[in-house]
Amino acid sequence: MTETCLDPAVPLRGQIAVVTGAARGIGEAIAVRLARMGAAVVLTARDQARLEQVKAAIEQLGEKAIALPCDLTNDKAVAALGDRVGREFGRCDILVNNAGVAVLRKPLVDLPGVGKNLVEHPFMFVGWNARPGAFRSELRVDRATLWVMQWGLFGKGLFATNGAAGNLFIRTDPRLDRPDMQFTCMSGEVSARELWFPLIGKKPPHTLGAGLSMIKQDSRGAVWLRSAQVQDPPRILFNLFQEKSDMDRAIRGLKAIREVYGREPLRSLVADETLPGAKIISDADLEKFVRDTGAITQHAVGTCKMGIDGDPLAVVDGSLKVRGVEALRVIDASVMPDVPGGNTNAPTIMIAEKGADLIRGRTLPRAEL
Ligand SMILES: Cc1cc2nc3c(=O)[nH]c(=O)nc-3n(C[C@H](O)[C@H](O)[C@H](O)COP(=O)(O)OP(=O)(O)OC[C@H]3O[C@@H](n4cnc5c(N)ncnc54)[C@H](O)[C@@H]3O)c2cc1C
Repeated sequence: MTETCLDPAVPLRGQIAVVTGAARGIGEAIAVRLARMGAAVVLTARDQARLEQVKAAIEQLGEKAIALPCDLTNDKAVAALGDRVGREFGRCDILVNNAGVAVLRKPLVDLPGVGKNLVEHPFMFVGWNARPGAFRSELRVDRATLWVMQWGLFGKGLFATNGAAGNLFIRTDPRLDRPDMQFTCMSGEVSARELWFPLIGKKPPHTLGAGLSMIKQDSRGAVWLRSAQVQDPPRILFNLFQEKSDMDRAIRGLKAIREVYGREPLRSLVADETLPGAKIISDADLEKFVRDTGAITQHAVGTCKMGIDGDPLAVVDGSLKVRGVEALRVIDASVMPDVPGGNTNAPTIMIAEKGADLIRGRTLPRAEL
């Protein structure tokens, strides 16, 4: 976003930009750049003398700047600054906050959906002891070396795969109109990455496993600021399995994967189940397993969701513009209102392509179907 915003092709004439920490360094550089792009820049920092110098430099370029010195560590001074910007300009189109403070105590645009609606693909892992001949035995150093050579020379063989041998998309309930669970069947297990040196190292067990990603989730989490300091990491709460429907889905998924591995051709590859384990059968025990081991697939989306007028949690509109702000777009996975029923990278790239077209005012020719 920053790159796009600072592209000289984006005209900012008539826009009001407030830049904190503008007395020196990156704050100063951004202020000058925004002014060159036509914005009227409100410069703020504690050092009045330096601010006046930056202001003079901007005015020499024939652009407008105003210096409003402020102790940005003082809450009252910051609130007064926000009030003054509101009084004098009536708005702030661009806020570049280099000082890490909540500059405008009363936000000009209050979008309660920012940070809400965090949604993921909850993840579980199940495993089995495998019968001899499984992938793990190929990690013996001599065999692995041959597989590496085959891959390097011919691009083929066992090591020409990433180990995620197959992906199944299934409906855990026949009444569903689309899959709600993705099984990633692996030729080993996640920890099967160390080489085995016979006579030196202990022979690793033959195991294989499968990852279960719930590609539909009803629970919603949130992301929010820990403090007004930019250096502080945000707070992230996924709320996985908070809704009963999600826990029910997870349990149906575990039962379904047992069915898949209980049938040929997989049945003859696996011996006893190690995770969750053959004794974990009741729904209560399966729920405990899910709560103890459930994780994320790294597919977080939704915290700046796109939505229609009247949707109280909508952050961006149908053209990716932040609601209530004239020239700001969000173009990433956070605009997805719900998590897609598959991996998130490709849909994010599609959003980025579309966003680039929207900024440049390009419309694609109609697809020929
Ligand atoms: C470990 C992992 C594995 C994954 N595997 C897969 C997979 O196999 N398949 C799949 O489809 N998806 C996968 N995903 C998900 C996929 O990568 C994401 O959905 C996708 O990258 C989201 O794109 P994004 O543009 O929203 O965010 P990101 O790709 O995270 O891009 C955000 C960018 O912003 C930059 N940035 C952050 N803060 C600042 C700042 N202050 N100033 C400037 N720049 C900043 C970051 O450096 C980053 O380049 C995986 C994710 C992870 C974390």
